[in-house]
Amino acid sequence: MANIKELKEYASINNIPIMQDEGIDFLTTFIIKKQIKKILEIGTAIGYSAIMMARLSEDIHITTIERDEERYMEALKNIKKFDLEDRITLIFNDALNVKLDEEYDLIFIDAAKGKNKDFFTHFENNLSMNGYIITDNMYFHGYVNQDEEEIPSKNILGIVRKIKDYTYFLENHMLYKTTIYNVGDGVAVTERRG
Ligand code: SAH
Ligand code: MG
Repeated sequence: MANIKELKEYASINNIPIMQDEGIDFLTTFIIKKQIKKILEIGTAIGYSAIMMARLSEDIHITTIERDEERYMEALKNIKKFDLEDRITLIFNDALNVKLDEEYDLIFIDAAKGKNKDFFTHFENNLSMNGYIITDNMYFHGYVNQDEEEIPSKNILGIVRKIKDYTYFLENHMLYKTTIYNVGDGVAVTERRG
């Protein structure tokens, strides 16, 4: 029997950074409230968030992209287990190499944190007129709000600076407006300006 708890346990044991409960609650509530039907997800991992979103309604279709082969295989298995193969399309590739023609009501960015701006610009043409782009991990485990001197590694500092740059990009964009919500690890919701 397919079981969400097992997915979460697998993720926890294998150090796979799936969405936190608070973040997933926010995301699923948002999808229901806005009656979102077509979703593009960047960063499948083992399929947890895709499965959580797809379960909300039979009308929801998701395309999700993962570049790590082991995780992709695990996601494929999980999506089958939950009987969602007809509503979740899995693409095994680096998202920045994927060109899509369709439009989506929601583009959910949850992959390499330093590349959020690249994902955004790569896929913004796939956003439907009234669509939303949601980005997870805007706080990057809290590091984004820490003094830069206290950040333990150059690597993390590099990502923090890229997230700050992405935040600035979103908040000053001519075409979009963005709100960053203090839920989970920080969730940004972007929509077209009126
Ligand atoms: N959305 C998932 C968690 C994703 S974790 C959930 O909440 O259940 C982030 C994933 O993005 C990782 O599995 C990583 O391999 C993948 N990823 C990172 N950069 C990527 C890229 N450029 N293209 C595709 N996948 C990427
Ligand atoms: Mg995340």
